[in-house]
Amino acid sequence: MKKENNSHPIQAGLFLVLYVLAGELSIQLGTINPGNMAIVWLAAGIGLFSVLRFQKLGIALVFIGSFIINTPHLFQGDWRAQIGLIALSGLLFASIDTLQSSFAAQSYLRLEKEYSTKLWTQPSLLPKVWLHVCFIPALISMPLFIIFMLARGLIPSDINSIILRATILLLADTSGLLLLTPLYPYLKAGTLFAEFRRSFWYLLAIIPPILLNFFVLDRVLALILPLMIVIAVQFRMAATNLGLLIITQLCIFFTVQGYGDWAKQNLVVSLLQIQIFVFSVSLALQYLAQAQTQIMLHREQLETEVQSRTESLAALNAELTTLATTDELTRLPNRREWQVKASQAILQARRYQQALSVMMIDVDHFKHINDRYGHLTGDSVLKTIAQICQQNIRGPDSAARWGGEEFVILLPETDQTQALIVAEKVRLAVAQYVHSSLEHETFHVTVSLGITSLLPGDTTLDNLISRADQAMYQAKAAGRNCIKSSETLSTNYLQRNKTS
Ligand code: GH3
Ligand code: MG
Ligand code: MG
Repeated sequence: MKKENNSHPIQAGLFLVLYVLAGELSIQLGTINPGNMAIVWLAAGIGLFSVLRFQKLGIALVFIGSFIINTPHLFQGDWRAQIGLIALSGLLFASIDTLQSSFAAQSYLRLEKEYSTKLWTQPSLLPKVWLHVCFIPALISMPLFIIFMLARGLIPSDINSIILRATILLLADTSGLLLLTPLYPYLKAGTLFAEFRRSFWYLLAIIPPILLNFFVLDRVLALILPLMIVIAVQFRMAATNLGLLIITQLCIFFTVQGYGDWAKQNLVVSLLQIQIFVFSVSLALQYLAQAQTQIMLHREQLETEVQSRTESLAALNAELTTLATTDELTRLPNRREWQVKASQAILQARRYQQALSVMMIDVDHFKHINDRYGHLTGDSVLKTIAQICQQNIRGPDSAARWGGEEFVILLPETDQTQALIVAEKVRLAVAQYVHSSLEHETFHVTVSLGITSLLPGDTTLDNLISRADQAMYQAKAAGRNCIKSSETLSTNYLQRNKTS
């Protein structure tokens, strides 16, 4: 048990006052005599709160509170003559109330331990609270009270009166616990007042139908049902029980004052009927409030689940896109991705009559590198060359792995002369790079490059690719580690044609 709660003497004092007030309110609103039995014993609920909140101190509070509230009502006539007996009776009453509150608190803590937060979110657990926290503690204390009252001659001893009073006593304590227990989680969280404020106008709206029922037209109390359903669904447990408290207290009060349909019968019977009404309405509405809480919770869970799934799906999609568009080894865009980009660039260049160049790069004697240093080193060479390509181009340019040991570079708004400059930068950077094998042998690698630029007759990417490829093979033929452009090719071709 938590110890820190014990260190709030002001709070504890407040609970004692609350206990006495709740008891006094229950008695003042309406009691059945002889026996001075309240109809809804709210002090039972406050007793439960005290023990839950202050543990041992709480038990002492209930004992003192019950003694204060019960003792004055125990004597008739001159109290001086019976002071000893009154004190003894007061102590006995207090002991029974304390036993009840302790038992209810024990049951509450046991359920809370077993179900933790689910206790107040699952309607299926509510009957357990009703039974173990409200009904059984009342059932245990009831016979003790009855025996005591019989022994003191406080109630008639015929069997019918005993059964009737036993029932009323049982329902009074059960209702007192039933109406207050669901408020405990809010009290503990410090949100009870906020819940009251939130639902204030709705709670206020309960009063007119009750007044109507007692002073204008019998049996229109049914009007509170739709209102209470709205409260249960919209504001849930706390407001529902606050509303139920208003209904019960007002109905008991007006009936005892002789108003309304219930008052027309024998008071004991009419109050028993009120108890049964309170009881069934409370169970139904509490269940509804709890069901609504569960629906809301499920909806929230579902929303977070959907959101997280959407997020992971988006992440997966992004990953898939990357996988589909990127070359795994070099992390450069793959051929397909590059082709899409290049085709769009060609369309744009044609439309705005801009220059555009394409460069084809092939590693020289790469087969030899693989054979000499192994495939892993070969792979690392390809990665390095990919990086060199990236580092030597500008933002709008785009390098990609064409396949094997071949790379392409798209150069938008770049004519043949400018493309030659870029090609030379790449060629030099590759040639100067010192590679290292797994056995730490160092070596150099060279590339052969072919470039071409967009001509007015080029309608597809293939036109440019095949010219760049041809130029690259020319570079191979010219001894590798050099650049050839399609322009020189076509000039050569023209010259060759002229000479022949
Ligand atoms: P050339 O100078 O005429 O281009 O000679 P080459 O050896 O580079 O040309 P060839 O096309 O005969 O050989 C290319 C080699 O590249 C063959 C292939 O095993 C190797 N290769 C292709 N893709 C990869 C790769 O992803 N990793 C490694 N390590 N080798 C690759
Ligand atoms: Mg090749
Ligand atoms: Mg090659």
